[in-house]
Amino acid sequence: VTARTFVIVGASLAGASAAATLREEGFEGRLVLVGEESQPPYERPPLSKEYLRGEQPFEKALVHPLDFYEAQGIETRFGVRANRVDPSERVIELEEGGRIQYDKVLVATGSRNRRLPVPGAHLEGVLDLRTVADADRIRAEVAPGRRAVLAGMGFIGAEVAASLRQMGLEVAVVQRGEVPLSRVLGTEVGRILADIHRDHGVEMHFGERVSALEGSQRVEAVRTAGGQTLLCDFVVTGVGVEPVTEVVAEAEVEVEDGIVVDELSRTSVEHIYAAGDVTSHHHPLFGRRIRVEHWNHAIKHGAAAARSMLGKGTPYTEVPWFWSDQYDHNLQYAGHHTGEEEMVVRGSLEDRSFVVFFLRQGRVVAAAALNRARELRRAMELIRVGVPADAHLLRDEGVDLRAPAKP
Ligand SMILES: Cc1cc2nc3c(=O)[nH]c(=O)nc-3n(C[C@H](O)[C@H](O)[C@H](O)COP(=O)(O)OP(=O)(O)OC[C@H]3O[C@@H](n4cnc5c(N)ncnc54)[C@H](O)[C@@H]3O)c2cc1C
Repeated sequence: VTARTFVIVGASLAGASAAATLREEGFEGRLVLVGEESQPPYERPPLSKEYLRGEQPFEKALVHPLDFYEAQGIETRFGVRANRVDPSERVIELEEGGRIQYDKVLVATGSRNRRLPVPGAHLEGVLDLRTVADADRIRAEVAPGRRAVLAGMGFIGAEVAASLRQMGLEVAVVQRGEVPLSRVLGTEVGRILADIHRDHGVEMHFGERVSALEGSQRVEAVRTAGGQTLLCDFVVTGVGVEPVTEVVAEAEVEVEDGIVVDELSRTSVEHIYAAGDVTSHHHPLFGRRIRVEHWNHAIKHGAAAARSMLGKGTPYTEVPWFWSDQYDHNLQYAGHHTGEEEMVVRGSLEDRSFVVFFLRQGRVVAAAALNRARELRRAMELIRVGVPADAHLLRDEGVDLRAPAKP
């Protein structure tokens, strides 16, 4: 594998993980990491948590130390956008001009935030959160007593709400659904989360929709479809993400809710691989394609793609898993469910200490846990092995989760 060029487009978690893995696995050719952001790859989870609250410096979020890339012989092109991958000539065209010839390319271009499609979205003080630059813009608005309105309460919205409350701001949330995160966590768990935020003084406007943002130059108020006017000093929108696929738009790579890859991270076009948030990947465990937007997945999928590029790939069967920290609560979710599963609760929703299992045809396909990290880990094992599990045993706190399978 010498004297070949591998290029990675997208220098974040998946891209950095792939680059490191290629070297670990003995790739000795030219390795180029191209990333649009000017910073070296960094972790995004602290951006809504410790970094946003000023409790952690940016350097702690770096995926690798600054000297790592040079030491590993990884050419870095940070602050450089790739315009397109051209498989006919096997080149990457860069926005600043110039082309990089590749033998294999990994697309790890991640997700971007959806925009809130309402009048006034362009006003000053209307912010969102994906990058460290976004986090800095929010931090610049922070002062005790100021009032923020969050449009949307997905995970990022919920974490930002918690962080802003912890810093002494007034926070109001406008959210379409009756409870936050019901699609991912189910209504019952969503309701518990809403209660937690309400207990911490977050003003909730559920079943509502932002219809306009108002102000002359800066945003001053949020108008809702229900006719309310919520005064504010700034707004943070959190209305979901979409995969960033345009770099392969002309390459005839199959794209459907992300860049489609098989279990070896291969796209439909030879020599083009993809990993992380940007992919819709075939997952043998769930028998279908899924798109996963989690930290752990980006790292593992990037590494798996790297091995696949070296011809050492094995099918990617990692159980999706993520966590979210809000106030002093730790929420974790693993697996993949659609909302039609049987729900089994172990522990107590009221006491905010539980694991909820989602069962399809008697098998655990997903689990959500509040303040029960260890049991969630064990639930992941049940998801992985996929044997039928007994609902009574799952519910029984006296039963070790390592043994709830049906005899
Ligand atoms: C604020 C925040 C908090 C989060 N918290 C958690 C958490 O607590 N737990 C959890 O599991 N997950 C969390 N996540 C999700 C997690 O960070 C993502 O799943 C992960 O970052 C995905 O990594 P990625 O490398 O696939 O893509 P991304 O991180 O989206 O990175 C893609 C990179 O590619 C670059 N790029 C795109 N197009 C081009 C191009 N044409 N040319 C060059 N470069 C390009 C982008 O600039 C970007 O740097 C959080 C995300 C955010 C934003």
